[in-house]
This record gives sequence, structure tokens and C-alpha cells, in this order.
Amino acid sequence: MSGGEAFLNNVLYMLKNAADYLNLDSGIHDVLKKPKRVVVVSVPVKMDDGSLRVFTGIRVQHNNARGPYKGGIRYYPSVDVEEVTALAMLMTFKCAVTDLPYGGAKGGVACDPKNLSKNELEKITRRYTAMIYEIIGPYLDIPGPDVYTDAQTMAWMVDTYSMMRGVFTPEVATGKPISLYGSLGRHDATSRGAVYIIREYFKTINKPLKDARVVIQGYGNVGYNAAKILHEEYGAKIVAVSDSKGGIYVADGAHPDKILEHKQKTGSVINFPGSKLLTNEELLTTPCDILIPAALENSITKEIAEKVEAKLIVEGANGPTTSEADKILFERKIPVIPDILSNAGGVTVSYLEWVQNLKRETLTLEEVHAKLEAKMVKGFHDVMNTSKKYETPLRLGALIFAVDRVAEAINYLGIWP
Ligand code: NAD
Repeated sequence: MSGGEAFLNNVLYMLKNAADYLNLDSGIHDVLKKPKRVVVVSVPVKMDDGSLRVFTGIRVQHNNARGPYKGGIRYYPSVDVEEVTALAMLMTFKCAVTDLPYGGAKGGVACDPKNLSKNELEKITRRYTAMIYEIIGPYLDIPGPDVYTDAQTMAWMVDTYSMMRGVFTPEVATGKPISLYGSLGRHDATSRGAVYIIREYFKTINKPLKDARVVIQGYGNVGYNAAKILHEEYGAKIVAVSDSKGGIYVADGAHPDKILEHKQKTGSVINFPGSKLLTNEELLTTPCDILIPAALENSITKEIAEKVEAKLIVEGANGPTTSEADKILFERKIPVIPDILSNAGGVTVSYLEWVQNLKRETLTLEEVHAKLEAKMVKGFHDVMNTSKKYETPLRLGALIFAVDRVAEAINYLGIWP
């Protein structure tokens, strides 16, 4: 079974659990099990050396009962239809948890950005955008960045879409550069949203965040910014982090910016001065107060879950915990704050960016933070209350809450014609 298939099975399994708790109509369950539309395109690109290569591009639109499709674009070698479908489903439920007026989608191109030049990445992005042009749009489907895509990628998407349409349309994508009407506060929104959730959780257990020991898997946008906010604004200690090359442990904690500088200089966090080298498994099983998986899906397996020594897991990545691992963590009484709540900050500020673009207005950073905080805190309490009501772990509580909201919308809309 491919990683994508395993991931999709996990998501379908969780959806079934939520459907069972809700006594969901089997027809509505069937609607939610499948994406509304799957588009696969072959993206031909003239490479820098003159050769021609064809990349597979995907856009999956899962559900739009509550608004236009919304979801990021991922560039990664193993991207496939199953993985993108699982991610699109999670987007539908994520947007419902924080009550954003969106459905769920996701996209990707199977490629290895580390071995592509900027020129090649631009060609891939422009051709992929042109090939999904008919199914995206400001009121139809709004892409954003995800793993190994960024503000530059979104700028190329906006330009390609605008050129084809003949109208400047920045609101077709979010996560753009500030000079192209990106939102202030978008770059660290996912992490800041996760930190609001951690703060609220620590309030419920009556513990301070100061000096909390934090371990983070993945030192990209989500991982680095979570480390930075937790350390600089709440006094937490970042004791272990990793990237695709390996992990490091610093007993007394390290400054997130110093680790970033080292990564930028050497290409990885490993060999950070004064650190001990960790394998991926060692990192995930390091004793700590907060473990944040912020790399890719399926990283906490059942073998790792048996050995996790964190007091709390907060999912920065999408789908980092397998269903089997989830059961073990529940039995071991290690709470997991699920992706569709904890990493919803990114899409929340993407929504704020889209609204600013549609109104041709700009929010201040303080306004963005206040709106993000309100959405995250409300989502946190809605999920906590649902989990209490149904006596479930937080993941199931979040899904029950989200599925109920989406199912009600589908019911009211009815089936056309
Ligand atoms: P990114 O490309 O900025 O960073 C990914 C990081 O993961 C890199 O440091 C990379 O080296 C590391 N990584 C890759 N494989 C690894 C491995 N096997 N072990 C350890 N580290 C590994 O991506 P990102 O935007 O930070 O996204 C990370 C996760 O968060 C993804 O699951 C993404 O879907 C999710 N997410 C991102 C956002 C966002 O706004 N960026 C929003 C919601 C969810």
C-alpha cells in the first residue's frame, strides 16, 4: 500500500467513526467519502538542459457545500491522487471547525523541488496553473501554499491566471507576497494558530507554558515559526528539532533563529553546535511537554506511539498520526490535538487575505492576530465541548463537530436537480 493510500484509509476510517457517532445518513456519508472532482494533468516542461520532462499535476476538490473549494498546492516526489484526496477531505473539515466559508480541496505536482532550478519551478507552476485554469477562481477554488511551495509559487499562479483571464486577479490564490496583496501575518499564521491552541490547552490543565520542553519534527514554515513563537513569546524551551536529514537534541534548549541560521548555512539542522544527533524515531520519542510533528503525514506510527514520551501532541502537519497510533496514544492517555483544529491558523489567515483582496482593503497585523485568535479559541472550545459531550478523544470530537456542520449544509442545500 502506498503512503497516500494508507493516509486516505486513515482519513476514511476517522470519517466513519464520526459518522457512526452522529448516526449520519448513509447517503450523506457516501457524499463525504468521495471527492466531487479529481483532475490529473500531465505537465510538460522544457528543462534547463534542453530536455523535455512530463510531471503529474493533481487538483482534488472534495466538497463545496459551505463555500468555494480551498486548499494548498504541494510539490513533493511522492504526491499521488490518494494523498491529495486525503488532504482535500481534511481541508473540508478543517474549514468547518473554524467556521470558514469554504469547502475543501488540495493540489500537488509530483516533483522534487530540491533538484529543480527556479526557472524550472516557474515553468512547472505556470503550466500546471494553465492546465487547471478552468476549475480554479476566486469564487470557485482558491489555492494556497503547502509543502515546498511558497509566496513566489503563489505569485506565479496569480500571474498565469490573470494573464489567461485578462484581468488582474490576486484573490485567486492566498499566501502571496505582501507586495501582491498577501496578508500581514500569513507567513507564521499556521504556527501562531497552533500556539493559541496550545496556550488554551495549558490553561485547561493549569500549567505555565514558560520553560515547557518542546520537540518539533520538521523545521520548515510551520516547525520553525512554532519554535520561534513558543520560545520568544511564551518562554518555552526548544530542546529537539529535525528536518529531512536528521534531528538534533540540545538539553538546555536552543534559540530557534540560531538553528535556522545554521540550517540556512549548512542545508540542515544537523550538526548544530552543542547538539546531539537524533534519528527520526529518537526525536519523536524524546521526553517533552509538547511534541509538534510538523513535517509530513504518517510519521507517528504504532511502533513510535508505544514509545512517545510527550505529555501533549499538537499536530502541525496534516495527518502525522496514523489511526493505529492514535488508538495507542489514547490508551496511553497522551492527548493529541488534531490537525483540523491545531493547524487551521494557516487557512484562517488565508481566508482573511482573500477577504482583504475582494474588498481591496488591508488589515493591520494586530487586526489579523486578533481575528485569528478569536477563530482559534472558538474552535478550541467547540472541539473540547464536543469531545466532552460524546466522551471521545479530541480528534473524533473535532471531526464530529465538523462533519455535523458540513452534513447539515448538504442537507439544507439538497441534491440538484
Ligand atoms: P515546509 O516545506 O516549509 O517544511 C517542511 C519541513 O519538513 C522541512 O523542514 C523538511 O526538511 C521537513 N521534512 C520533510 N521530510 C521530513 C522527514 N522525513 N523528517 C523530518 N523532517 C522532514 O512545509 P510546511 O509548510 O512547514 O508544512 C509542514 C506540514 O504542515 C505539512 O504537513 C503541511 O501540509 C502542514 N501545513 C502547513 C500549513 C502552512 O501554512 N504552511 C498549513 C497547514 C498545514
